[in-house]
Amino acid sequence: MNGIVTKSTGSWYSVRTEDGEVHQCRIPGKFRMKGIKSTNPIAVGDVVTFELEPKKETGVVKEIHERRNFIVRKSVNLSKQTHIIASNIDIAFLIVTLHNPETTTTFIDRFLATAEAYSIKTILLFNKVDTHDEEMDEYREAFKYIYTSIGYECIDVSATEKININLVKVLMKDKVSLFAGHSGVGKSTLVNALEPTLDLKTKAISEQHQQGQHTTTFAEMYPLSFGGYIIDTPGIRGFGVVDFDKYQVTDYFPELFALKSDCKFNNCLHLNEPKCAVKEALEEGKISETRYESYLQLLSEDEEHYRQDVFK
Ligand code: GDP
Ligand code: ZN
Repeated sequence: MNGIVTKSTGSWYSVRTEDGEVHQCRIPGKFRMKGIKSTNPIAVGDVVTFELEPKKETGVVKEIHERRNFIVRKSVNLSKQTHIIASNIDIAFLIVTLHNPETTTTFIDRFLATAEAYSIKTILLFNKVDTHDEEMDEYREAFKYIYTSIGYECIDVSATEKININLVKVLMKDKVSLFAGHSGVGKSTLVNALEPTLDLKTKAISEQHQQGQHTTTFAEMYPLSFGGYIIDTPGIRGFGVVDFDKYQVTDYFPELFALKSDCKFNNCLHLNEPKCAVKEALEEGKISETRYESYLQLLSEDEEHYRQDVFK
């Protein structure tokens, strides 16, 4: 039988089949891990083949199907072991608010670059639009233009006034979705508006985490009544850290990636190199300054990683 892992406690995995049955499964002692080495062999979102144990409701996982993508968290201790938080994510919804709290372009761009690195499609939801006056509406449109012009879908929503909630539901139908954003942007309120029965569960989890139990990074996946799943990843505002290689950062900024073959040098970092197509586009106003600044910031972080690695 095949199913999707919706919860993991470390030794038992909840596996949900297509007809909605949930079986508690374990993995055999000698289980071959496919792909990357991680502290957890199976993650929430994994599609697995399992067999029911004779005369029991419980099952044994036989195989993990290849992951389309996954997000990881690296442990901060010296071993730097990788923990897979969740896999097979179809859409990441990044909830953005322009004020209360303010979501900066730096935060958005870092999230988008990381999502690109993980091959996860991101849609930006601009929440709390009910609080915006005419001036804020204009500001928001300018803000959204930065992202729509480079291919990211942006949607105005209001979780409390239920603006465009159905539109988001249509996008989530039959997909595995993840919600991210700063604390206070309205994630819980939005999830509640999308699927009222989920509210309690997600609240309970985030409260647990506010009590400082940050050691558990288990995600959980909830089926949606209208089809699809929502992944709740406690404690993460964005994704785990990606170790960007500085020559790869360009690839995670679609508008820079599109220009990179026009730069004179194929290893151009778009700093001060001659005949750089990115710098030219920037001067002509074809690339957003805030996006370029975010690019520079990720690049400098890579330098730090690089220096640390070299001098350790
Ligand atoms: P979370 O930390 O991202 O889960 O944010 P919450 O869902 O707890 O929301 C934080 C605050 O923002 C709460 O007081 C919500 O009532 C409020 N809020 C959420 N969405 C909206 C919205 O669309 N409009 C307005 N005016 N307030 C909202
Ligand atoms: Zn260049």
